[in-house]
Amino acid sequence: MAPRVAEPAPPPPPRAERRRGYGSLQLRHVDAGSCNGCEVEIANALGPVYDASRYGISLVASPRHADGLLVTGVVTANMAGPLGRTLEAVPAPAIVIACGDCALNGGVVAAGFGVVGPVAAVVAPTAEIPGCPPHPDAIIAALRRYSGR
Ligand code: SF4
Repeated sequence: MAPRVAEPAPPPPPRAERRRGYGSLQLRHVDAGSCNGCEVEIANALGPVYDASRYGISLVASPRHADGLLVTGVVTANMAGPLGRTLEAVPAPAIVIACGDCALNGGVVAAGFGVVGPVAAVVAPTAEIPGCPPHPDAIIAALRRYSGR
């Protein structure tokens, strides 16, 4: 018997959270005010070692080609408007995945200058990935719930 090369698919998200195109997940990444630590781990998750693409997960350049947003960092005053407008450009039903403690609750810079708040202060997250920064395994596990693979 050949060795198993991938973990079993995770349980699917609740029906209300499902979206068209189940089986793949295209996300537009928005850095709303990150230190870039989360971006390093997202790059690792999508890179050749963790290889999120084998689960149908990828980042796309245009929100019009995306199923939703992957948001990192606290939302700064300069990024609150662009974050909202980027979400408006994603075809419905769009999902919003807040990635990292800053995106979830402000993290270490919650009281910083020019900070509006966590992602939830601007747009409602569909899912949250805790960690500072989250491990690539945690990022992939959360996204696989939406790619379904
Ligand atoms: S959660 Fe940590 S790694 Fe991610 S943006 Fe905030 S401080 Fe940086």
